[in-house]
Parts: sequence; C-alpha cells; structure tokens
Amino acid sequence: MRFEISKVLDAIEGRVSTDPSLVRAVLDLAEVVRYTDLDGGRPASTLRLGMIMDALSRHLEEDNVPVYAVVHRALLSEADLTSNERMVLRRWADDGLVEVMNNPGDRVLEVADLLGLPVLSRNRYDGLAGRYPWVTGQPGRLLAPLPGAGGPVLVPRVKGAPPAPGGPSPTGRKLLARTWRCREPGCVLFGGEGGGAFADLARIDRKPSGQPPPTLRTGMPTCPRHEHRLIDAGPRPATEVLSVRIGGMVRRRFVVTSERPVVVGRAPEDSGGIRLGQWLNDEARRWISRSHVRFELRGADLIVQDVSTNGSGVRPGGSMDEAERIALARQQSRVMRPGDIVELYPGVQVARANTWTSGGMVNPTSVMAEAPTMAIRLGDRG
Ligand SMILES: [Zn+2]
Repeated sequence: MRFEISKVLDAIEGRVSTDPSLVRAVLDLAEVVRYTDLDGGRPASTLRLGMIMDALSRHLEEDNVPVYAVVHRALLSEADLTSNERMVLRRWADDGLVEVMNNPGDRVLEVADLLGLPVLSRNRYDGLAGRYPWVTGQPGRLLAPLPGAGGPVLVPRVKGAPPAPGGPSPTGRKLLARTWRCREPGCVLFGGEGGGAFADLARIDRKPSGQPPPTLRTGMPTCPRHEHRLIDAGPRPATEVLSVRIGGMVRRRFVVTSERPVVVGRAPEDSGGIRLGQWLNDEARRWISRSHVRFELRGADLIVQDVSTNGSGVRPGGSMDEAERIALARQQSRVMRPGDIVELYPGVQVARANTWTSGGMVNPTSVMAEAPTMAIRLGDRG
C-alpha cells in the first residue's frame, strides 16, 4: 500500500506548481489535507489534495490542471501526516513546487487576486471581502470543495456564470513583468543566477519566467518565504502558453520562454519535452516522431520548426480547409500567426492556449488512479 501511495503522490507532484502561466486555482494545503469528510480517513492526508485536483479537473472539464498550493511551514513537521508525506512535502518545498510561509495569513487570496484565479476553500473570508471584493462579488471565484457522489465537487460561494478568465490583475501584471531576486542564498522561488550551493541538484529547472508573484504584504515586493524585500533584476523573459489538443480535447498546457525552446513529440528525449505517447492511437503513434516539432520564442515571434521524419502542417488561423493547410517538411520552420494551429497528425494539434476554450472533457485523467481502495471509496459517503 505504501508503494501505491507513493505513486499517487508522484502523480499529485506533477500538478503542483507556482508557475503563474500554468496554475488554474489557489489553495491552502494545511486546510485541504484536513477535509476528513472526503474519505473518512486519517485526520490529515495529502491524498485529499489529489481528490481536490481531480475535482478541479472535472470542474474545468480539462486534463492536467496545475494548482498553486500555499503551505504553512508547520505542515512540514505535522505529526498527523505520515513520515513519507512529510518527506514529500519538504521535497516540494525545496523544489519550489509549493510556497512555504511562516504565516500564510491571506496569501491564498493575494495570489488569487494577483493572478486572477479561483480559490478552493471552505472559508468564507467575509472579513476580507473589503480588500478582495471578488470573494463575495464574482461568481465562481471562491469554490468550496465538498463531498459529492462521484468524489469532491466545487461549490461556488457566488452562483451564476463565471466571467471569462481575465488573467492577472493590473498589479499582478506589473509584478509579473519583472524578474525578482531574493537575497536569501539559494532561494528557490526568487533565485538569482547560480542559486544556492546545491542549485545543480535541484530537480526542477526553475527559470525566472516561472517565478511566482511576490507578496505585497509590506507594501513592497517581498519574498513570501524568506520575508526579504526583493530586488528588481530586470524585465522578465517573454513567455507564451501553448495547449496540446488531441481528438478535440485540451490535454495539457505548457510554457515556451525566450530562454528555453520546447520539443513536442511521441516521447522527446530532452527533459523539458512534451510527451504525447499516452494519448495517441496506433496510427498516430507510428506517424509522430519521438521529437516531432520544436517551439521557440525569438523576440515577439513564436516559431515552430519541424524536427520529425514524416513532417507536420500548419492550419493558418485555425482553418480546417485542406487547401489552406501549409505542409511543414523536416527542418522547415515558420512564424506562428495568431490562431495558427500546428498539426502533427490529423487531430493532434498544438496552438496558443487562447486559441481554444477549455472544457469538454467528460472524464479527465485522475491523479488518484493508483490510490488504494480506501482512499478512493468516495461515493460511499456522499
Ligand atoms: Zn526568498
């Protein structure tokens, strides 16, 4: 059983992130691990984070949706967690996958406010509605994870059609336009060049473009973890968020930055590559090369280059007219215009994330797939 739990925690690990371009909701980890009514189990369990992630995927009808978790430092030594869970949490903290704070206070709301994201919490935050009017004023911004028949469901505090995601607030945009540096040696969230003594050993390739939003608690941009005022280290490298859509459904998003091109294929060899193999049928698997297309940001231009054996194509402006499809032979490259869709194989597509509205996925992949029966017996209690 311990082995299975480790596998679930690995799956959950793939969906915790502090990268503002990718995360889709914010939560307080110390709160959700204590939702005992979700599974009737131990007083605290990190598997409940997986259940909430699944609930968010079902809510957004999209696969692979990352979550921004704020973690009270005390949770890293919480006796109600198993030693394995504490070890995993410390690793997430060390790798900057989660944000650790001595006193999270209203940080969850601050992050959600700066990034324009929903908060997953059972708190009503009435006392903070003055500072964050969307708590009581905007449908779908505060979502309470509650037990449901098929696993947890997210119940909005304010009912009604949620507004289209507006992205970061004006203040958030200003903060995210800069690279920040913390004077704490080896700060994993706001590290400078070189980082700490063990920077080479970090499992996560953390680039300035993925820095979380600083806290403004002191009135100035501050490292939430070390509480040092941050140094402005210049403009943030440009980023572009792309989506992979297979068979009409968005399977995952990824970020291309001016610092780092990204290869997409059946099973790319480089560590940052986007692996499609798991979603492909046999014919697509035969056609698509291990490394098939490469995306690169050069100045303001997003460039796609074919690196495959069989070639790919671009559908200009998303046109499904076969006559307009532009073939991309091996080693050919092309600047992507707004709305352009790169097609690796019919139905296997990559485009800027805003090209497609999310949703439509009835059965998103569960992070709990490997969970022991005890943890997934959800419906029994709903
Ligand atoms: Zn720091």
